[in-house]
Amino acid sequence: MPSVSLSTDAAIGVAIPSRNARGRIARLGPVVDQILASHNYPPLIEKLLAEALTLTALLGALLKEPQGQLTLQAQTEGGAIDLMVCDYLGGELRGYVRHDTERLAGLGQEPTLPELFGKGYLAITFDQPATDERYQGIVPLEGGSLAEAAQSYFTQSEQIPSIVRLAAEKRADGWSAGGLLFQHLPEGEEGRDRLHTRLDHPDWPHVAALAGSVRPDELTDPALPLDDLVWRLFHEEDEVRTLTPLHLAKGCRCDPDYVRSVIARFPEDERAAMVGEDGLIRVDCAFCSQSFPIDIDEVSRPASER
Ligand SMILES: [Zn+2]
Repeated sequence: MPSVSLSTDAAIGVAIPSRNARGRIARLGPVVDQILASHNYPPLIEKLLAEALTLTALLGALLKEPQGQLTLQAQTEGGAIDLMVCDYLGGELRGYVRHDTERLAGLGQEPTLPELFGKGYLAITFDQPATDERYQGIVPLEGGSLAEAAQSYFTQSEQIPSIVRLAAEKRADGWSAGGLLFQHLPEGEEGRDRLHTRLDHPDWPHVAALAGSVRPDELTDPALPLDDLVWRLFHEEDEVRTLTPLHLAKGCRCDPDYVRSVIARFPEDERAAMVGEDGLIRVDCAFCSQSFPIDIDEVSRPASER
């Protein structure tokens, strides 16, 4: 069967069984432009969000359930950025950054994470509704980059040797962002004996060196198919398996029907209290920078009767 060759708005899973390693490579192009089009961010925030969305895609691809949700939220104190939220649900991504434009302008071209986020933390939440599994990891936003912060989350909090690389650049035709996440398997692959996690496992430095050799321009080059990049990095390995690529898209849950269904769940008196002077309920979506006027009379009627 010929493999599907994807080069952008996609994530591909990689397994290297003989080295007990697995990984993901993702590249985002049009999906980043679509998400950024809802906002009017300065270039620095655009680049940060492009990288954060790439990280979100890499982490989201680790979810076992197709309806699982991954949320990345920066909680900050005293930084130029007040809030950053990205999430992933079934291959759909969205995100926004609330920030102080004036303070940001004073930071120069390459601010550190503490300059951007102050005393900041990144909360990474995995939600898997089918198995009712929910857990959250917290990582300090320290160091030079989001990739470094994510890597220390896995290595320190999860005790899984990991390597994370992220890159984003604005090209003539729009943004291109790319990233990879490779991990030493804490257990052997399915069907094998359990492999004890060892931070000093001899196979891991080898995989980390190969994955870490990726250049930022290889991650972001929209003309380089993801499976070609896998081949470039790992062609000397005995066996490298690529999994079915996953398509990534922009997605939000703020469509008017959904918003009406949420409002309909409130008791009638609470609904009445939401109505503004113009007789409408206004619901804001920070992800889309949009406000939805909802007619209270429409809330109680099914969509087919409107
Ligand atoms: Zn929205």
